Amino acid sequence: GQCITHCPTGALTARDDVSLIMEAILDPAVETVVQVAPAVRTAWGEGLGLSREEATPGRLAAALHAVGFDKVFDTDFAADLTIMEEGSEFVEFLGSDAPRPMFTSCCPGWVRFVKQHYPQFTAQLSSAKSPHQMMGAVVKNTLAAEAAEAGRRLFVVSIMPCVAKKYECDVPELSTVVGATHGAGTSDAGLVPDAPVAPELAAEAAPDVDAVLTVREFGRLLRLVGVDCTALSEAPFDNPLGLSTGAATIFGRTGGVMEAALRSAAYLITGENPDFSACDTTAATSETPWMSRELSIGDATVRIAVASGLENTSKLLDALESGEAAFDFVEIMACPGGCVGGGGQPIQFNSELAQARAGVLNRLDAADKLRYSHENPDIAKLYADWIGEPLSHTAHEWLHTDQESWQI
Ligand code: SF4
Repeated sequence: GQCITHCPTGALTARDDVSLIMEAILDPAVETVVQVAPAVRTAWGEGLGLSREEATPGRLAAALHAVGFDKVFDTDFAADLTIMEEGSEFVEFLGSDAPRPMFTSCCPGWVRFVKQHYPQFTAQLSSAKSPHQMMGAVVKNTLAAEAAEAGRRLFVVSIMPCVAKKYECDVPELSTVVGATHGAGTSDAGLVPDAPVAPELAAEAAPDVDAVLTVREFGRLLRLVGVDCTALSEAPFDNPLGLSTGAATIFGRTGGVMEAALRSAAYLITGENPDFSACDTTAATSETPWMSRELSIGDATVRIAVASGLENTSKLLDALESGEAAFDFVEIMACPGGCVGGGGQPIQFNSELAQARAGVLNRLDAADKLRYSHENPDIAKLYADWIGEPLSHTAHEWLHTDQESWQI
């Protein structure tokens, strides 16, 4: 009824894809590709008896291989790609007279909420798809020909902290028609190989992501297959879609997307990497509906705000609407604390746990050798081999959407 149709995160209508995924894993004609969101690495071990020290990203990758997935990729890679696109979009936006602010678009719970309750702001959303949709588009466009040669079709699974991503992967306007660009030989600047994508394969492979599992359902899948995670050694993610930077890791907590975008936007504007403290967004507290800062980037003064939770979001949007607040760039996450507190995470949750999970991401970021999305060498290679440059024609085909074009 009322609640079901108005639940912005989709939690009340979520479907469970565990059996669909098992069928795909067991089908020799299917190549299964799995990706895990940044926030999953903070909480996946909680329901499996693993301590935080044991539940490392490496053991998570090993567990995914043990389940039987053919390729284990990292949504963090796509988070870096999101920053390349959204950061470039923001730099263009700053130089334009478009209405302020530009809003981030990687949280489908938020995108759905704004379209439903504040549609006047929909046109101000970034056109970037969410990271797992971008990953699906890249996988389907770059690996389909190789899979077809082996007589297989691709099936992409996302393990997410999120229930909203289940409906998101079913929205046709958020998917790329595979082969629409390179299969038809309409590459831009000759950068895209003329990969032979069979039309029937393209049609079959149309959604960017075929199935989404929450962290809770992933725990069920591990139990079903009988994977003993405590006995697993660490394993790397597969390449080339498994390497990421610290900027991508912090996507999983409130303020992380903003921070990652500012690290790269500042580089794009000034040609130099900014100080990490210059982009820090961790001043947000639960006592204030949103966190805001004014930053100097080159000659520009940039007013940013970060909010999480839909109550805080409404307050911020009302303040923008009334003119009481004014910003250039706003990050919103529908779940309190961001994806670490997502509706698909293990069920017990409180603010201490949110901080503990965010702490995992901050430590991973601080320990990473690469901390700027634009320094990810595999992202550079993806652009050189396939996409050209951020906001290119191919980038638009694969990685962006017209946010106003689809209905909830
Ligand atoms: Fe999903 Fe919540 Fe994260 Fe939004 S904040 S992407 S609804 S888990």
